This record gives sequence, structure tokens and C-alpha cells, in this order.
Amino acid sequence: MTQMHALSRLMTSLEDQLVVCMKCGMCQAVCPLFAETGREADVARGKLALLDGLLQQMFDDPEGVSQRLNKCLLCGSCAANCPSGVSVLEIFIKARAILTGFQGLSPAKKAIFRGMLAHPALFDRLGEWGAKFQKVLTKPVNEVVGTSCARIMSPLIGKRHFRPLAAVPFHKRVPCLDTPAGAAGLKVAFYVGCLADKIFPDLAQATVDVLAHHGVGVFMPANQACCGIPAISSGDTDTFQRLVRHNIRKLEAGTYDALVTACATCTSTIKEVWPMMTATDPGLQADARRLADKTFDISQFLVSKLGLAGEEKTDEDMPVTYHDPCHLKKSLKVWAEPRTLINASRGYRLQEMPESDWCCGMGGSFNIQYYNLSGRIGERKRNAIRATGCGIVATGCPACMMQISDMLSQGGDALRVTHPVELYAESLKRK
Ligand code: SF4
Ligand code: SF4
Repeated sequence: MTQMHALSRLMTSLEDQLVVCMKCGMCQAVCPLFAETGREADVARGKLALLDGLLQQMFDDPEGVSQRLNKCLLCGSCAANCPSGVSVLEIFIKARAILTGFQGLSPAKKAIFRGMLAHPALFDRLGEWGAKFQKVLTKPVNEVVGTSCARIMSPLIGKRHFRPLAAVPFHKRVPCLDTPAGAAGLKVAFYVGCLADKIFPDLAQATVDVLAHHGVGVFMPANQACCGIPAISSGDTDTFQRLVRHNIRKLEAGTYDALVTACATCTSTIKEVWPMMTATDPGLQADARRLADKTFDISQFLVSKLGLAGEEKTDEDMPVTYHDPCHLKKSLKVWAEPRTLINASRGYRLQEMPESDWCCGMGGSFNIQYYNLSGRIGERKRNAIRATGCGIVATGCPACMMQISDMLSQGGDALRVTHPVELYAESLKRK
């Protein structure tokens, strides 16, 4: 009964937001999915029209509604360019929660979200086992990009070239931290995130090293959980709230000025989705709002709080091109700071690519469910990267790093795929 009340409250808030769409169709021009399929059903306007009669549709064709809603990257390009200011992502996320509340989760998603993600210690252990045994089923394929592929045909991996699990995850290298504020007079909490912990530990290490270099104290509690975006993207509000509660309990054990992450997706989830999807628990929502207000992307923190600035560049410096993660540029309007960070890195200089803010095609579960479409969107990104002639591509999101690595590796390109903070950390060692 309580769940039905929560669902009907969500439904009412959805109806209020749906009327804002004036059906102008301007979202078509910026939707990476529409650019590939040309189908009105795939663009924001088509999905919003479908949701207009959600209650009736849910009874008539719940599977059809679910498929159309899930065929979306949640990239926010439509919302960022909508003249009426329709909260498209909020509508889509709430609609998915309503549908899942009505339909239930598939057995596979239940096993992944409730059996694994919701138990951080178990998730960590599974990641460690996976790192040990992955070589049995996979083999390295592109040394420069750092990708692997399946040894034998596997329906799970398919033709993907992926960045493998790190031999030693970051939580094993550095289980926790609590260092005092130094010369900067500031202390931050560091939320690591699953991909930085399990696949890109050097990125997490670079973040900690840069903060230490600038005299910023770091509070990093042990046993952090996933930010919850995979669960809430599938409408699993229960697992999502459980993860938010767990993380807030861990993070509230410290005192600090700001919370930083090096993952665009984690940052936008903490800042926007945590407060948005915890309304059924007012205490949790108040805590989430407090934390959201002091959450920063690492490049944003370094530039806006520590005053980091770009250096004079010459042709001697190595060119680096930059891809704007949708969650950083379109959701949080953070795009200048990562560029400043690259230009603040001695030995490197920024070289823009065409369409730097066109989605890379990752979209989390979209990549799993619609891999061919995801790949077609990713090829456009690969061509943009190739057009620069750069040997390094940087981006502020580990999920984009995964997708760009896959695209480049499958295309036979030999580029380094990295994060601006890694370049900056390296340059500090050279100074
Ligand atoms: S979502 Fe915005 S851009 Fe798209 S049709 Fe509606 S009002 Fe126009
Ligand atoms: S979120 Fe992205 S993929 Fe989904 S409808 Fe909007 S622009 Fe298209």
C-alpha cells in the first residue's frame, strides 16, 4: 500500500512536469539516438507524448512502454537544449521508477542490484575474484589503449574491447584516509566510485596525490558503495535508496568543506539524483541535499576553490584532445574547468575536437541493451577524435573512458585514453 502511495505521488509530479513540453521538436537536433535512428519514438518529444497517457499505457502495454523508455542514453542533451526547460531526465527517471514499481524487476536485474550492488563488501570481493580469473576468458588486445577482448565467443562480452578489472583495486591500495587540512586550509571527502576503484585505480590515486600536493586534507571512508545510478536507471528505487543511505552514513562520519569525485556520472548522481529520488524519506532527502550542495567534480574544485589556472603553451607541448561527458557539461555545466586542468599540466596542451560535447554513446545500461546503436554513436566520437591527430584523449568520466577505449581499440587506433587529473598529477611529478 505504501508503495502504491509513493507511485501515485510520483505519477502526479510527472503529470505536472509533462505539461511543460510544447512539442516544438527542437530536441530532435541534439539527440544522439535520433541522429542514428531518425525515429520520433526515440527522441524526447516522442517519449514525453507516450508518457502523457502513462497510466492507461501501463495497463495496455507495459512492456512496450518500458522498451521505449529504456531506449535512451539519459545523456540530457535534450534537456540542456529545451527552450521550455522541460526536466526531461527527471521525468524519464521517475517514469522508469513508476514502471518498475508496477512491473517489478527482471530476475537478472534483481540478482545484480539487490544481490550484489546493494552489498558493497560482497561487490568488492566479487570484483577481486573477477580480476584474478578474467584472464581465463579474456586476452589483451590493444596495448596502448589498454583493452582486452573475449578469448572465445561470449554472449556477455560480444565483440567489445574493454578496460579490464585492475589487478589491485584502489580500496586495497588505500583502504581509507583521514588527513588534516594543509597549506590550502581545506579538507575534502573523496567519493571514489565503482569504476575508479575497480578499473581505473590510477585515476583515484592521481586525485588523492593532487589533493595532497596542494595541501588539501582528505577524508575517504572505507567500504564505500556504488552511487546507485545503475539501479535507479532501471527504476529500482529500493536499492538506490539503500545505497544512498549507506554512502551518506559513511560520508557523514567525517568533517570537511567539500565532497569531490573524479567521475562525472557519480558527481551528477550525488548532486541531482540523490535529492530527486529520496523524497519518500524526508530525513534522507535532507541529508542528500546537504551533501549535494557541497559536491564538486575534481577539476571544478581545483579551479574554483584552489585557483588553478592554465599555463602558456607552445608547440613543444603534447596535444591532448578532450571529450565532454554529458553528465559534466549538460547536467552540471562544467566544461571550462577540465580544459583549464589540461592546460595547467606542464608538457600538455589542449586541442579541441569537433563536436566535443556530442555523446560518446555509453549511456550505462544502454550500452548493454543496445550495443550496436551505442557503437554507431561511438563511431562518430571516434571520427572526431581521429580528426585531431592527437595521441591522447582525455575525458572527465570513467564510463566515457570505457566507451572511447572500446571504439578506438576496435578501430585499430593506438591512443592513450585518460582523465585530465591524471595528466595534471603526472605533470606535478615533472615540476
Ligand atoms: S522536450 Fe523541449 S525541445 Fe523537446 S519537444 Fe518538448 S519543449 Fe520542445
Ligand atoms: S536523454 Fe539523450 S538519448 Fe534520451 S531522448 Fe534525450 S537526447 Fe535523446
